[in-house]
Amino acid sequence: MAAALSDDDRMILEAVEKWLERDVRPHVLKLEHADEWPEEMVGQMAELGLFGATIPEEYGGLGLSATTYAMIVEKIAETWMSLSGIFNSHLIMASCVTRMGTPEQKAEWLPRFATGELRGGLALTEPDAGTDLQGIRTRARRDGNGYVIDGTKTWISNGIHGSVFALLVKTDPEATPRHKGMSMFLAEKGEGFTVSRKLEKLGYKGIDSAELVFENFRVGGDRLIGGVEGKGFQTAVGGLELGRINVAARGCGLASAALKDSVQYAQIRKTFGKKIGEHQAIQLMLGEMATRARAATLLTYDAAAAYDRGERCDMEAGMAKYAASEAAVANSLDAMRIHGGYGYSKELHVERYYRDAPLMCIGEGTNEMQRIIIARQLMERSPA
Ligand SMILES: Cc1cc2nc3c(=O)[nH]c(=O)nc-3n(C[C@H](O)[C@H](O)[C@H](O)COP(=O)(O)OP(=O)(O)OC[C@H]3O[C@@H](n4cnc5c(N)ncnc54)[C@H](O)[C@@H]3O)c2cc1C
Repeated sequence: MAAALSDDDRMILEAVEKWLERDVRPHVLKLEHADEWPEEMVGQMAELGLFGATIPEEYGGLGLSATTYAMIVEKIAETWMSLSGIFNSHLIMASCVTRMGTPEQKAEWLPRFATGELRGGLALTEPDAGTDLQGIRTRARRDGNGYVIDGTKTWISNGIHGSVFALLVKTDPEATPRHKGMSMFLAEKGEGFTVSRKLEKLGYKGIDSAELVFENFRVGGDRLIGGVEGKGFQTAVGGLELGRINVAARGCGLASAALKDSVQYAQIRKTFGKKIGEHQAIQLMLGEMATRARAATLLTYDAAAAYDRGERCDMEAGMAKYAASEAAVANSLDAMRIHGGYGYSKELHVERYYRDAPLMCIGEGTNEMQRIIIARQLMERSPA
């Protein structure tokens, strides 16, 4: 797969790997356990161009293929998965503008997203609606040339440190089908837009997840992505294929990190006069872990390649996301078993993989939904 990379792609990947070794790995444990926003690393990510990774070059981005993007995300997640969330939700917001924005919106927003001057994320989920996005209640009412927005969003990544969000609302709550009454706005923090609280969570530390409240929040009509009401659902779900490839790549990174740490430890730790890697019980686990990690990576590259060819790939992205996230969960638990008591220690990375992995089963569409999507696609592609 690496053979498909251009020289430029290879250079970017190498620069990211060097940065991870030099500036990230030595600080992960401290930042993770302090749940501290990695300010300095965010600046370094901007210098590397990561905030513009998938933004087209004509708007100042790197214009990377999904394949190269997936490889970068995989490497970052192998070192500290939280960092990938800081630029990935930002890039999903940017992709809403790239795919659906007016020429004026692209020219105004994308160059500032690409440099990281403006950073943000995607605000879809509400306290009463996650998987069933069409059940959201946040409402935008027309008011002169603009809109007034009221509602609450929850679990929004980058909610505290980001300043602008692709915000999914209802412009016509009575519409049938429901998605025809949905629109997406670019909401920049200001009067009427507050962060009500930071949400405490099991893992995914360092990156902020927050609840956002909109009360009488006014936006100009020029903030309606695409300039036409009723396209919000399409704007939100249209980015999901790339979003799922990204979550799959994070799962691959975690599965591979758990494997690498275990392979090392199995050759150092001794019991009953032997390295534990010489016990067959440990070998069985390592063999299983390596196979899961490899299968997850191949499925992820397969989905990314289909995306790069411009093919419909919701089934492939769903399979990759499902397989890679489950591989991350299984490998992180096996890594903990292999490390014995040390796997449970906060002095090593293994317990973090175990806390981070389950999020990959939830984000960008739960794994229950992935299997349903795969099954529906199987029947659609092979009608009886
Ligand atoms: C750390 C973190 C970060 C997040 N970041 C963001 C973000 O940046 N932006 C954002 O908008 N959201 C974000 N989310 C929210 C996330 O996308 C949702 O949690 C996810 O979509 C699931 O929605 P839910 O939690 O409401 O679960 P629900 O939709 O209530 O689902 C509960 C259970 O029911 C199952 N289920 C639901 N419907 C069906 C069905 N039709 N058939 C079978 N099973 C079904 C689900 O699979 C799940 O097992 C984040 C969440 C977390 C935990």
